[in-house]
Amino acid sequence: MDVTPVGTGDAGHSAASITLDGIRKRYPDGTEAVRELSLEVKAGELVVLIGPSGCGKSTVLRMVNRLIEPTGGRILLGDEDITRVDPVRLRRRIGYVIQNVGLFPHQTVETNVGTVPRLLGWSKEQIRRRTGELLELVGLDPAQFGRRYPHELSGGQRQRVGVARALAADPVVLLMDEPFSAVDPIVRTRLQEEFLRLQAEVRKTIVLVTHDLDEAVRLGDRIALLSQGGHLEQYDRPAVLLGAPASPFVREFVGADRGIRRLAVTPVGRDVLDPPVDPAADLPAVPLGGSAYDALAAMLTSGAEAVVVTADDRPVGTLTRARVLELGQR
Ligand code: ADP
Repeated sequence: MDVTPVGTGDAGHSAASITLDGIRKRYPDGTEAVRELSLEVKAGELVVLIGPSGCGKSTVLRMVNRLIEPTGGRILLGDEDITRVDPVRLRRRIGYVIQNVGLFPHQTVETNVGTVPRLLGWSKEQIRRRTGELLELVGLDPAQFGRRYPHELSGGQRQRVGVARALAADPVVLLMDEPFSAVDPIVRTRLQEEFLRLQAEVRKTIVLVTHDLDEAVRLGDRIALLSQGGHLEQYDRPAVLLGAPASPFVREFVGADRGIRRLAVTPVGRDVLDPPVDPAADLPAVPLGGSAYDALAAMLTSGAEAVVVTADDRPVGTLTRARVLELGQR
């Protein structure tokens, strides 16, 4: 498999689908971490694995880059079965980001980011260019941060370097194991937002493990909710998972506040609007396509019973509080 050797001025656009075909993992002590799991992640899609502690999330993730060898089943990248290829070479095609980032402490930021390109034998100049490009992409000025050591960075900055390093050789897949858990909640939210912007640009196929449902809903194109033994309870878009839990297990996992969470991922569409009201009513305005959650927040902060919904700054209808609450219960 070829790896684009030179930065092309962007962050690269290769991505491959991932197919888990009946994978199983039984540890030597007899623990059946994953009994049998089939799952397909489309190229360029971000899928979140979530579920209670010990359900097998990390085991699944690490089987994809063969840090853990499956005891059965197949894993395909695109249409290539990777279950039997050389794991060391495989890992150079797969970016991997873990909780505490795992930067090499005695190497500079630049050297850390250039790790895989160096292993792949890129020239010094290619590596330097690529490293600069990647640091900019994750929002770190190469001139300011390139020569620093990991201990000279904040937790959030280290995490960004970890992402840059994982993207360095333009991997076809990115695996992320609780990547944002080690930073405080405010930094975490900012990193998640930045990461979504980054993903819109690089469009990698990403599998991300988290135990945080809000993170899953915010980041995932789709969410795979697992129960013990890697059993797939539901695999759906966030709004569907929250709005139509497939089993009592899912219902309990997503919890009683799923209505509110669901509003955050439900856009305000024309189908829920009443006709526009007299402009003199002086209601707060929200854009068509914005989240129902933001609309509710606007009502609650202004004390209004409805908001005006606008498109191109022109009112297209009215959304009432009762309608929003209905949306949360659908
Ligand atoms: P999660 O990431 O969902 O918390 P893991 O994939 O880490 O779950 O673990 C799944 C199950 O496999 C757990 O019961 C765990 O105790 C067990 N397990 C993980 N690693 C090993 C190991 N090396 N040997 C034996 N059992 C393990």
